[in-house]
Amino acid sequence: MVDETDLKHLRRCVELAEAALDSGDDPFGSVLVTADGTRAFEDHNHVSGGDHTRHPEFAIARWAAEHLTSEQRAAATVYTSGEHCPMCAAAHGWVGLGRIVYASSSQQLTSWLTELDTPPPRVRPLPIGEIVPDALLDGPVPELAGQVRALHARRHRGS
Ligand SMILES: [Zn+2]
Repeated sequence: MVDETDLKHLRRCVELAEAALDSGDDPFGSVLVTADGTRAFEDHNHVSGGDHTRHPEFAIARWAAEHLTSEQRAAATVYTSGEHCPMCAAAHGWVGLGRIVYASSSQQLTSWLTELDTPPPRVRPLPIGEIVPDALLDGPVPELAGQVRALHARRHRGS
C-alpha cells in the first residue's frame, strides 16, 4: 500500500532520475528514509563514466552499512524510480535494509526498452523477490511509472 508520504519520496526519486538524465546518465534515482521519516541519503545513477556498478540503490546500501545500525537499517525504507537490479537487490538484502517502494518495475523497464529498440541490459532485470525472497515490496505506482517511462524514452530516443 502506497500512501501520500510514499508518493512524496517517490516524486523525489523521479526528480533525481531526471537530474541523472540531464547530466547524461541513465534515469534512475533513489532515496533512503529512516524510521523517523528523515531522508538520510539520496543519489542517482553515475554510470556514464563507465563504472556500471554506480547505481543509487547500491550507493544507498553501502551508505547504510557505514552509517546506520542493523536495527536502523531494518526500519528504513528505500524509495526508487525503478525496481532494483539484481546487484542492488542483493546489496539491499545483505545489509538488511527494510521496505522497498518502486515507481516502476523491472518488468516495465524491460518492456519499455524493447519498445524503444534498445538492447537488453547485460544483467537480467529480475524482480527483487527473486533475489531477496522476504523483501517487503510496494510498486509499481502507475501515475509515476508513466513519468519514468518518459525519461527512458528521452534517454533512448535522444529527444
Ligand atoms: Zn542496480
